[in-house]
Amino acid sequence: MGSYGLTDDVRALRERMRRFLDEQVLPAEADLEREEHDPAARRDGVMVRLKARAQEEGLWALGHPAEIGGGGLPFMAFVYLNEIIGRSHWGQVAVGSVSMQDSIMLHRYGTPEQKRRWLEPMVAGELYPSVGLTEPDVAGSDPTLMQSQARLDGNEWVLDAHKWFTSGASHAAFTTVFCQTEPDSVDRWSRFSAILVPTDTPGYEVVRVVPTMGHTGGDHCEIRLRGVRVPKDHLLGPRGQGFGIAQKRLGPGRIFHCMRWLGQAQRAFELMCARATARFAHGSLLAEKGEIQRYVAESAADIQAARLMTLDAAMAMDQGTEARIEISLIKFRGAQMLHDVIDRAIQVHGALGVTADTPLERMYREARYARIYDGPDEVHRMVVARRLLRDPNAAPWA
Ligand SMILES: Cc1cc2nc3c(=O)[nH]c(=O)nc-3n(C[C@H](O)[C@H](O)[C@H](O)COP(=O)(O)OP(=O)(O)OC[C@H]3O[C@@H](n4cnc5c(N)ncnc54)[C@H](O)[C@@H]3O)c2cc1C
Repeated sequence: MGSYGLTDDVRALRERMRRFLDEQVLPAEADLEREEHDPAARRDGVMVRLKARAQEEGLWALGHPAEIGGGGLPFMAFVYLNEIIGRSHWGQVAVGSVSMQDSIMLHRYGTPEQKRRWLEPMVAGELYPSVGLTEPDVAGSDPTLMQSQARLDGNEWVLDAHKWFTSGASHAAFTTVFCQTEPDSVDRWSRFSAILVPTDTPGYEVVRVVPTMGHTGGDHCEIRLRGVRVPKDHLLGPRGQGFGIAQKRLGPGRIFHCMRWLGQAQRAFELMCARATARFAHGSLLAEKGEIQRYVAESAADIQAARLMTLDAAMAMDQGTEARIEISLIKFRGAQMLHDVIDRAIQVHGALGVTADTPLERMYREARYARIYDGPDEVHRMVVARRLLRDPNAAPWA
């Protein structure tokens, strides 16, 4: 493993995290899968115990800013930890890193009262956030088309909104709803604001959990807000600045995704190698066949390329640069890498690969989503290409 910027401290932390994942989380996956479909079990089940254990072992919320109760690790160091956390689908919930995007957003824009009410318990793992940007009726990849609205009535915002893929809304304490508050603004990017809406506010309805790719137990929700009233001080950040706030949330979030995908891909890679060295067909082990060796070599190259690009983006973020090109590059390249490595691992497993008897089937679904959420591949390619066509020397390596 290349160890760019990996200090002894982070290496030791990484080893402890690895032990926690391999000894505590991975063996509990089957129970966690069952628990996912049973909200009652979730309240006092395996995940609750894993979270407590991670806290006891000093592995909790390591990437959250230190001043809000996190470990304060810089992005670069967190890549090394998150690629371990990402080995399990449940890793990020178990070690309190699942809400990092929202915690960064609230840390940056929240009022002291908003931080007390939502940020502190979120970092402690006591409540979950959700975010409502995407709407079923307009293209989510062009947020200026968003139709949801909020108007000020005295001391209250009144919201009318229809969102979907509001992930986690059915068990979240609040949704950050992005909606039009300044419909007359000439600048179409300044028409929107972010408003914090508790999910138990009258008029807030989870219409359904949207079934995805044959899976009914996910938590991507369609929500409707009809005349929902929240106090004026639930506005997050300044009026009309919703896009800037969303970008500040999504930018680091995309790096966190890429870090996690490295862990998923590495696990798929290990499963592929194990299967190839155990399965015999047509006179030899699969591992002895040139075509299978090509899958192994291509996967190793894809993972390492994505790792180095992810570390590069993390370093740019730590240096305080905007890192727009670096982030878009890893968003589409990382998602493609994840998809391709898992796809090859499934292929090597044959029919077993598409069953739920290995983690690959679930990983493959998640990998397919990765090419769409937080901006589809095409939009990130567009961002990169437009910038580089304007100035080819704007590339970070130029
Ligand atoms: C698993 C999952 C979880 C999600 N979680 C959340 C969440 O928590 N909160 C939230 O608000 N949203 C969430 N989303 C929604 C996600 O952010 C949107 O799906 C995404 O922004 C794309 O919007 P859309 O689905 O409306 O697709 P559209 O905008 O309709 O785009 C459809 C397709 O058009 C093509 N396309 C779009 N623009 C261009 C372009 N400029 N050039 C070329 N082709 C283009 C792409 O192929 C794209 O996939 C989630 C999505 C998934 C799959």
